[in-house]
Amino acid sequence: MRITRIETFLVPPRWLMCRVETDEGIVGWGEPVVEGRAETVRAAVEELSELLLGQDPAPIEHHWQRLTKGGFYRGGPVLSSAVAGLDQALWDIAGKSLGVPVHRLLGGPVRDKVRVYGWVGGDDPAELVDRVSARVETGLTAVKMNGSGVMGRSATVREIDGIVDRLASVREVLGPDRDVAVDFHGRFNAATARRVLPLLEPLRPMFVEEPVLPEYGHLLQDVVRSSPVPIATGERLFSRTDFLPALQAGIAVAQPDLSHAGGISEVRRIASLAETYDVLLAPHCPLGPLALAASLQVAFATPNFLIQEQSIGIHYNQDAELLDYVLDAEVFAFPDGHIHRTDAPGLGVRVDEDAVRRADRGGHRWRSPVWSHEDGSFAEW
Ligand SMILES: [Mg+2]
Repeated sequence: MRITRIETFLVPPRWLMCRVETDEGIVGWGEPVVEGRAETVRAAVEELSELLLGQDPAPIEHHWQRLTKGGFYRGGPVLSSAVAGLDQALWDIAGKSLGVPVHRLLGGPVRDKVRVYGWVGGDDPAELVDRVSARVETGLTAVKMNGSGVMGRSATVREIDGIVDRLASVREVLGPDRDVAVDFHGRFNAATARRVLPLLEPLRPMFVEEPVLPEYGHLLQDVVRSSPVPIATGERLFSRTDFLPALQAGIAVAQPDLSHAGGISEVRRIASLAETYDVLLAPHCPLGPLALAASLQVAFATPNFLIQEQSIGIHYNQDAELLDYVLDAEVFAFPDGHIHRTDAPGLGVRVDEDAVRRADRGGHRWRSPVWSHEDGSFAEW
């Protein structure tokens, strides 16, 4: 089998998909994207495609090595995401050519279903309560919320109280049998994180995410030690070597993104490395159907898995939804808060290629919001 064509599709709300075609008619799909930099990743995929065209798709690890290291300059969000999407497509081809799901090729399933969480947006506690209740009605057993909106690097008393009050109102709706995670998004500094975390502990969040920005990884250990709240990070880390210092700092939950951190190949290795630190895997995935499908394949085969993010109903997705691009929406159903395993080959999802090609004609120009503080200076989103 030889790879004959590689195409990319820029599809709303903010995604990029790649389609890898072979001379035997088997097609693999992937999702190489960094949110807000989709066109940049598209250019990287086009450059990297030179290393794959005309090649046998089967030796995935060999391709991963060449794609990741062959350019001399390596790593970072753009290149690692380009490799990630191509890696997903190669695993999809491998599974389809053998008639087995990818999780079978990763050693076989260790679980029958994968627990997922959904986002709840909104800053006002009353609005949050309604949204959480609606999520619970869909069957979800866990949600994630932002800790705050725009906020000073050193938070005020009122801002800190706001974080605690919102989490308290959500915990009240969820009770003791459901979970809530809180994403800090690195919006305030490490000193503020150390002050806020002990206040959240009585409400027992499942984890608090990105209490400090990735560039302050050297402060992570102090933050971890400031309270018993389990700390999660990783959506802005792109390899095993990026994760190692975070694991050494004592995080509880590793959150590599299947579309950012080198794909199925590298996330599997990150999971194994995390296991040696007794750290659980909760892949980041506010993305589309192929990123989620790849995440699920890893989750089915990974022992130290905790929970999977998914974007169905996420507040950012206004022009399009994950299910718009698949023919078999039922593979992503979560009636009991879990997505159930199937034996569908490859990534386990059938892409609606007509819908993808149609969406690509309109494309998108999604960008991360750029926020400001009241004095006009830059604020973290
Ligand atoms: Mg996050």
